[in-house]
Amino acid sequence: MKTIALIVPKGSKYGKNSLLKHFLEKSDVVSSFYGAWETPNLSLLTIAGVIPEQYHVEFIDEDHGMEIPFSRHFDIVALTGMTQQIYRAYEIAQEFKKRGSYIVLGGIHASVLPEEALEVFDTVFIGEGEITWPRFLQDLENGTPKYSYHSAKVIPLEQSPIPRYDLLDPSLYKSFSVQTTRGCPRTCNYCTLPIMFGSTYRHKTVPQVISEIEAIQKVNADAFVFFADDNMFIQKDYAKELVRQIAKLGITWGTQTDISVADDAELLELLYQSGCHWLFIGFENVSQTGLDFLDENKWKAKQLYHYESAIEKIHKSGINIWGSFLFGGDNDTFDVFENTLNFTLKNGIYSGSFTILTPLPGTQLFRQMSQAGRIIDYDWSRYTFWDVVFKPRHMSPDELAQGVAWVYDNFYSKENVANRTARQKSRMRQIHRREIQNAKPSSTKKIDS
Ligand code: SF4
Repeated sequence: MKTIALIVPKGSKYGKNSLLKHFLEKSDVVSSFYGAWETPNLSLLTIAGVIPEQYHVEFIDEDHGMEIPFSRHFDIVALTGMTQQIYRAYEIAQEFKKRGSYIVLGGIHASVLPEEALEVFDTVFIGEGEITWPRFLQDLENGTPKYSYHSAKVIPLEQSPIPRYDLLDPSLYKSFSVQTTRGCPRTCNYCTLPIMFGSTYRHKTVPQVISEIEAIQKVNADAFVFFADDNMFIQKDYAKELVRQIAKLGITWGTQTDISVADDAELLELLYQSGCHWLFIGFENVSQTGLDFLDENKWKAKQLYHYESAIEKIHKSGINIWGSFLFGGDNDTFDVFENTLNFTLKNGIYSGSFTILTPLPGTQLFRQMSQAGRIIDYDWSRYTFWDVVFKPRHMSPDELAQGVAWVYDNFYSKENVANRTARQKSRMRQIHRREIQNAKPSSTKKIDS
């Protein structure tokens, strides 16, 4: 039987920014929040789902502590990786190539820079792999593998297989990801997701998603499910139907969405009832000019006026917000750090992700910055969102790195964590009182009188 190793290379978790690295690694609070992202790599598990049964497949996750078994022979070694993981992917591939394996690479970095990847790999996958992988295996069997396989059009997600969660060591993960939709119609200039999945929003069928969650429950009955969609609630009717069915499974879960989720009170109520604990929302910036820079269509900039009322609606529905903010845009001046911190504290944001704007290869931001000669570091291992790799317009690279570390330090100070926790508990008490009130039988009044 031919063997295939699917390998996730180790990433440089918090980058090389010593200020942030030190803080993030020593903070228990931060690591407990960030644990929610300790999910297995869904792309490789999905590819495993389209590999025919005649192959023996193993999933090796170096990014979550597994050793790479270099002494073993695999016929095919397949890697994936974000830009910051790519050098490690190259090292692993070279080792297996010396041992006679056929080595292939997929994922976002390979999709935007296939020529670079082909200097190391035998074959590169560009875009989604569900359709191209079976073709590649057939070609390899026939002795005619191509250098690259390009998924020319976006695949209908109903054809995507159930990811092979059964290949995992579940003890390595704090949550398990499911993807219900792909594509995002927004046009944020720093985002690679529309490059990989396109701007056409597609979704799996509701029974398909339920089957995937049940497959996770077979490997971990109490799994926290992270819906790893780019933006889960763009189609509200589909989202509501899905969430109604999720509610029957008794899981706890979180996901990524944009702020428009707050416009739909029925959806918020369904989310709470279905076990949704938090929503990761990309606010990115709290000023008009800051948001203007990040998207020429200005979708997020147009939402700024109701950021605060939207947060209040989400909180009132019983759901926590994990806010994401990006620093270093061309309109950011030094006050961006204090203004952002104040915004998060004032609005009781439960958890915060504060990152450094990073011009990832393939994005519009990368093109602009590189044409302007503003990229100061082409070392891909620093493209982590924790390191400064470009010249900011209104501050020095060091000031940007220090500013972000300052926000982290303050947002996660003991005092601020205690304040937020108290506010969150108080919100939940109010919600429980409301629930008890609503559950009172209508005859109670008669008895009382
Ligand atoms: S809304 Fe989110 S997923 Fe969509 S383009 Fe912007 S950052 Fe990317």
